[in-house]
Amino acid sequence: MALHLPFRYLEPTCFAGLLDDPVLWVKVRPWGRALLFDCGQLHHLAKRALKSVAALFVTHAHMDHFMGFDTLVRHVLVSPRVFDVFGPPGLADKIEHKLCAYDWNLHERFWCTFRVHEVYPNHIQKWIFPGPLRFERQPDGVCDRSDRTVFANRWVRVDAQQADHHIPVLIYRITEQPTFSLDTERLAAAGLAGGAWISDLKRQFYRGRLGKESLTVTQSYAEGGGLLEIADTRRLYDMVQRRLVSLSIGYMTDIGYSRHNEETVTGLLQGVTLLVGECAFLADQVEKARRSCHLCTRDMNVLLQTLRPKYYLPVHLSKSCGEMSQKLYQELHPPVGTTLIHLPERLLARPLLPCEVRLGC
Ligand SMILES: [Zn+2]
Repeated sequence: MALHLPFRYLEPTCFAGLLDDPVLWVKVRPWGRALLFDCGQLHHLAKRALKSVAALFVTHAHMDHFMGFDTLVRHVLVSPRVFDVFGPPGLADKIEHKLCAYDWNLHERFWCTFRVHEVYPNHIQKWIFPGPLRFERQPDGVCDRSDRTVFANRWVRVDAQQADHHIPVLIYRITEQPTFSLDTERLAAAGLAGGAWISDLKRQFYRGRLGKESLTVTQSYAEGGGLLEIADTRRLYDMVQRRLVSLSIGYMTDIGYSRHNEETVTGLLQGVTLLVGECAFLADQVEKARRSCHLCTRDMNVLLQTLRPKYYLPVHLSKSCGEMSQKLYQELHPPVGTTLIHLPERLLARPLLPCEVRLGC
């Protein structure tokens, strides 16, 4: 289900119903590629949707979040590229076991390589599985984490934090990168006029060169219309940029309700534009939620008061709540300013019950 929300770059699509295994596909429009969050059931996704995936972000390796990995491998295998997979500690072992389950004697040198990033609180451990070498696992180094970012390009940034689900689980925030945009009033107030220097400033912005190269700007007529050499172009841009809010998506599933998780979720996801968040149980199933380390509607209501997303899409309702989804929406009370988005119970066809099968012609 495509979600038509006010993003500049991001196009989130939920390929799962409320009771289906969660899978969120986020197209990054100017890039022409997509990021995939969890991969429970994928067989129903169009081949072009799977082929467009540039990186996979796994929350944890419970079967309902990870069993579609084989389907993904099948679709991206025959392409000479590096495919990045992010997930919690231990994910490389699980991917190795999956890849070892097949015979690769017919491998080709142009097959893809999987690069796995195991996200720990203070570092990222990397492994590669090169297709040309029959996906035999090799270490690919360790990098320290100076911030929460695990993936970034010109258009999008993905931050991750570890929460608890009796096992480590990652929660993600996908944020649109700032665009170059000038405020004409602030430009005039700074005594500057337009000119070719703006293209140079834009080039510095997108190449990460702000503050590293000087620039000659044109002063406005009121300031004499002369040329002025600016050494600190980062400060210059701060002074004249149009202030835009960076829109973002939070993806959070399978966490227990605890003080630690609440602090982690708040630290990463407060103020997201769209929260795609698990709500596995109804209020009267709180004991089940505690036992299985999931959230119920009562927990979600508390979290929403702090997170205050603009839109909230509940996902991953327990299959034991089938036919009771209306109760979920009745029990959720988002704060003023948060719009609740409804999903159909199932986007995937379920098997027919015997009583639904019509015999004869
Ligand atoms: Zn789980």
